[in-house]
Amino acid sequence: MAQAAMDNWDLETDVIVIGSGAAGLPAAIRAVEGGASVLVVEANYDVGGHAILSGGHMALGGGTSAQKKYNIPDSPDTVFSDLTDWSIVQPNGTPDFRYNDRAIMRAFADHCAMAFEFLLANGVEFADKAPDNQGASTTGNSAPRENHAIWTKGAGLESPNAANGTSAIRPLEASARKKGVKFLLNYKMTHIIREPAAAGASRVIGITAQYNPHVMPGSSTPLKSFRSEGNIDSTQANMRLGARKAVIVATGGSTSHLEFRRMFDPRLTPEVQVGGEPYSYQDASGELAALAVGAALWGLNHQAMENGATMRAQRALATKYNYTTWKLESPIFPLVKSTGFNVKDWQDLILVNQVGRRFYDETKGDPPHGNNGHQVTPYTPNDHRNTEKLGYTPHKYNFIHAALAMNEYCEPPDYAAGPQWAIFDADAVTREGWKVVPPYVDPEGYFFSANTLGELAAAIKNEYQAKPMRGEILQATVDRYNSFVDSGVDADFAKPAPKYKIQRPPFYAAWGTVIVHDTRSGLRINGRCQVVDMAGQVIPGLYCAGESAGGFNQHGMGRCVTQGYICGADAAKLPRHE
Ligand SMILES: Cc1cc2nc3c(=O)[nH]c(=O)nc-3n(C[C@H](O)[C@H](O)[C@H](O)COP(=O)(O)OP(=O)(O)OC[C@H]3O[C@@H](n4cnc5c(N)ncnc54)[C@H](O)[C@@H]3O)c2cc1C
Repeated sequence: MAQAAMDNWDLETDVIVIGSGAAGLPAAIRAVEGGASVLVVEANYDVGGHAILSGGHMALGGGTSAQKKYNIPDSPDTVFSDLTDWSIVQPNGTPDFRYNDRAIMRAFADHCAMAFEFLLANGVEFADKAPDNQGASTTGNSAPRENHAIWTKGAGLESPNAANGTSAIRPLEASARKKGVKFLLNYKMTHIIREPAAAGASRVIGITAQYNPHVMPGSSTPLKSFRSEGNIDSTQANMRLGARKAVIVATGGSTSHLEFRRMFDPRLTPEVQVGGEPYSYQDASGELAALAVGAALWGLNHQAMENGATMRAQRALATKYNYTTWKLESPIFPLVKSTGFNVKDWQDLILVNQVGRRFYDETKGDPPHGNNGHQVTPYTPNDHRNTEKLGYTPHKYNFIHAALAMNEYCEPPDYAAGPQWAIFDADAVTREGWKVVPPYVDPEGYFFSANTLGELAAAIKNEYQAKPMRGEILQATVDRYNSFVDSGVDADFAKPAPKYKIQRPPFYAAWGTVIVHDTRSGLRINGRCQVVDMAGQVIPGLYCAGESAGGFNQHGMGRCVTQGYICGADAAKLPRHE
């Protein structure tokens, strides 16, 4: 690119942070506190990404003030030892920490208590109780490290879905704005710009971004952010944004990009939806833009290791976006279309594949992690006997993966396993108290009813259903299941004492397909979160934090916040290139 073109910026700042979620906001605050001018570029109409929808559970330890208050001994060395312990495996055999990058883990261990105090200093409040190990996972076994932010309606924390994570994100947002961080919302980064090699240092010097307004179906007015102080008001189609010090990729990962995610796991065909959509997308745009300027990927096996929290069971039935239970008041409800409904007792239904056959014990939830639930008691770091205490039972905990591995009706071009459907009857609706009308269900492809099972199978028409379910197969599946209720024994999948027959019309089919939740593999970074290229060299001026960064197999916000904390300060210290 010619020098003249590179200088032709629409806006210039010291540090550009791409993405305003769990990694981006801490990065922005740390950079502005370090004396840099900071611009956050966010594709969505408001800040927060997946983090603002999250459960607000935050895994941060290593000697936090909360741990000290409740006399919980912990230290950076203990965190490092825990999160590199090869002997911890999940009950399905997945080793949580064995392949973590040691440099990245050392940096995390050394900074995670500081990141916790940083959150407090920037207004985040956690429930005043002893940290535990509930909510997230892969936090390590030596000490409880989970802290919990709790959403309070009307506390200036307006949430896109009444989610606890809002109580972590809104205070960070308010603090960033107060400290002078600027926000360019509704702009999606399309390219990272790096000086040509001939220029010497070959720094990353800026990005391009495209205007991306969010207008809901049935409206002509783009959605507006909750806060506006510091927002840059622009509708220019394309912007060239210069960064005098650095660009930080905090775009949240790659699970929303069908082809990218299938590089790690070919089974992640289109029917598998993504937790956090349609509020924000982890569409690999950060990874792709960084790869285009020479970055390497890292820790690729983490994505396909069948981690308990990476793939998850549905949380709500009868709606496409079935991980989160969406609220009617959500500003994006016109996109979501239905709330879906939760299941109190998984005895009330069966789950079948796109052919109409059962594939697992419906009462099994997400596979547990090797360190949640105190299975390893007592825990001796790096002792091979830890594995024995976990009770290796792969057959019980691979149901999600069984669902994805199914072959019947698989068709070209991608041989997708297809949707999973919850099948139940009128009695189940009464027992559960479900409302089976819109907006609680989505009859346009995600919820069906009929007076016979044959008619129900024929009624199922969905964008991901390869061909119609055959009525005789569904009937045979239900007849066999009903016989298990009579005998008290599920001879196929060992569901404990099947309780209720599916027998009273109308019969129902509700979308209940598993989802992909986490990105666990991403750009190669070092301990400072600098992006590293294919020759193992740092790309000057380019950082990455959060789910877009590879090398760290941990679910959730703990690693994202901490990496944002690390790289924002580091970026601010770089020389300013005028
Ligand atoms: C429903 C739900 C519940 C969860 N609960 C928990 C929990 O309780 N505890 C926990 O630890 N974790 C939880 N998680 C996971 C947690 O939210 C994520 O791990 C975390 O938010 C990831 O942080 P991030 O900064 O990498 O990405 P995000 O928080 O997703 O932020 C990325 C941001 O980048 C923006 N972006 C993407 N591409 C571009 C682009 N090209 N240009 C500009 N902007 C872009 C996105 O719009 C988004 O705002 C939950 C996730 C979901 C979906």
